[in-house]
Amino acid sequence: MAEFTMELNDEQKEVRDWLHGFAADVIRPAAAEWDEREETPWPVIQEAAKVGIYSLDFYAQQYFDPTGLGIPMAMEELFWGDAGIALSIVGTGLAAVGVLANGTEEQIGTWIPQMYGDANDVKVAAFCSSEPDAGSDVASMRTRAVYDEAKDEWVINGTKTWATNGGIANVHVVVAVVDPELGSKGHASFIVPAGTPGLAQGQKFKKHGIRASHTAEVVLDGVRVPGSCLLGGKEKLDERLARARERAKTGGERVKNAAMATFEASRPAVGAMAVGTARAAYEVALDYAMTREQFGRPIIDNQGVAFQLADMRTQIDAARLLVWRASWMAISGKPFTAAEGSMSKLFASETAKKVTAQAIQILGGNGYTREYPVERMHRDAAIYTIFEGTSEIQRLVIARTLSGMSIR
Ligand SMILES: Cc1cc2nc3c(=O)[nH]c(=O)nc-3n(C[C@H](O)[C@H](O)[C@H](O)COP(=O)(O)OP(=O)(O)OC[C@H]3O[C@@H](n4cnc5c(N)ncnc54)[C@H](O)[C@@H]3O)c2cc1C
Repeated sequence: MAEFTMELNDEQKEVRDWLHGFAADVIRPAAAEWDEREETPWPVIQEAAKVGIYSLDFYAQQYFDPTGLGIPMAMEELFWGDAGIALSIVGTGLAAVGVLANGTEEQIGTWIPQMYGDANDVKVAAFCSSEPDAGSDVASMRTRAVYDEAKDEWVINGTKTWATNGGIANVHVVVAVVDPELGSKGHASFIVPAGTPGLAQGQKFKKHGIRASHTAEVVLDGVRVPGSCLLGGKEKLDERLARARERAKTGGERVKNAAMATFEASRPAVGAMAVGTARAAYEVALDYAMTREQFGRPIIDNQGVAFQLADMRTQIDAARLLVWRASWMAISGKPFTAAEGSMSKLFASETAKKVTAQAIQILGGNGYTREYPVERMHRDAAIYTIFEGTSEIQRLVIARTLSGMSIR
């Protein structure tokens, strides 16, 4: 197990500089255009694929970095470039993780390559869990998967919403209820390949920010997938359901804790995205404050402006430290006894919202226009306190973990 470190090693610095170069040279210059177009930036994803940033191999390499800093470093740099485009590049990873976490080796080998495609023909994937009536309250999910034993097929019906890449994905990973009696323990994940009859994109959302990332409803109407599309397979599902039924009788803490540990480990990555956006806005604001003159001197020469920048940088660094700590804990298998993963996501996402708003203020009228990137960064930052668990849900998780009480 690697010791916790606050400094990247030489190899990590090299990867960081390479990613930063891509973010600065390819992502950032394209940001305003794709934000206006509100479309998936396929040419940029293709560029990322060409240089090796859009592949499972790249993210797996970062994930297995024993210091735990590979993923947060990569997320920070890409999202520093632009949040909408970066989400279009890393969004497939959500679905890939769903397959890696629950799939058999054969399923991983079959479906992950189809999620990414190749540099000449890039594809994306979608992870579909949220529903119109099941956002924070995942257990109230209604999409139903029923097994047709005679045909060894699953029949899926329901409506998913807010799916990143929903409807345009080559592979949809769909979470559905297989046993309604068991709440979230009665859920299972299914692969739904593109072109499966009954799978359709519903409404595509017009959004406040991250507009280069496609977000849509996914309608599943009598979708039939072969038994081999149940992630993990039927035998494992039956065993898991039997254990959950047994625990439901005896009050099952262990299953709940395993699910919570997974979230704690994935939330720092979202925190790192927020750090990237916050840092981007802070840098623009610092540069502007040093060069913009009013009353015959640079505006940073006023404490009112300089102290804001001091606070912005302090909060960004604090957010990064929380993210790095939680990422190191995750890779080292440390128990999240104070919900440190949720803490990092909560603090970093709130910091991004605050810092990007301060950046607009420091740029004055220019900050409020689309001539400068900080208004876009502020619109983008608002997503971090909402997806992957809202700030309120993070606080709930932290408070419950600290107190051991089921605070509502
Ligand atoms: C751009 C975007 C992309 C997304 N991508 C995906 C994706 O790829 N796949 C996917 O499955 N989902 C995705 N989501 C869904 C996202 O995870 C949900 O929006 C989020 O979980 C919140 O659910 P909700 O929107 O239904 O809000 P609600 O759960 O209805 O919450 C509304 C408000 O009530 C508060 N609230 C709810 N319950 C409590 C409580 N117990 N205590 C205190 N406050 C509470 C919330 O914090 C929030 O402020 C995406 C969402 C967006 C906007």
